Amino acid sequence: MEQTCNRCGAPTTGLVCEYCGVLTMTLENPADEKKAIDEFHEIMLTKDHKTQVNMLKNGFLPTSVEGLIEAGVRCIPLVDINRPSNQVVRSATARLQAIVTKIKLMPDFGQKRQAVAEFSDLLERHRLADTQQDKSISRFLVGFGLLFLLCGGGFIWGVFQWITSL
Ligand SMILES: [Zn+2]
Repeated sequence: MEQTCNRCGAPTTGLVCEYCGVLTMTLENPADEKKAIDEFHEIMLTKDHKTQVNMLKNGFLPTSVEGLIEAGVRCIPLVDINRPSNQVVRSATARLQAIVTKIKLMPDFGQKRQAVAEFSDLLERHRLADTQQDKSISRFLVGFGLLFLLCGGGFIWGVFQWITSL
């Protein structure tokens, strides 16, 4: 029988919706969860940017700590700090942040500090790269504004010269 996604209503065949990345069924155990994460990332790689963003934003998050770490590790290659403001990169960053938060709330978080530290480190590097980029954009705008003022000033000066020479 054909199933449809509970969230977006798209027809589904696997464990994960191909359009929004939510689970199409309840997972029984961590092994299924791992399979669903694999499926999620395999599907996502074949999609256009818009669907990738949608899947990363709305996609399911595992409930087991092992699943969460696996899902976090799969986000790492997507957090490209050379393109910090790219929408896919931003969505992957948001997903990784959600994963970190969920792991921190787990009772056995103590044993997972290393993973959380790695993820947090990457998130921090992304944040720095992103603010750096914002700074260069505002520097560009300030430079452009100054140039504009100078040109305007030059123009007015020219008109003034022309009027006084009449
Ligand atoms: Zn869906």
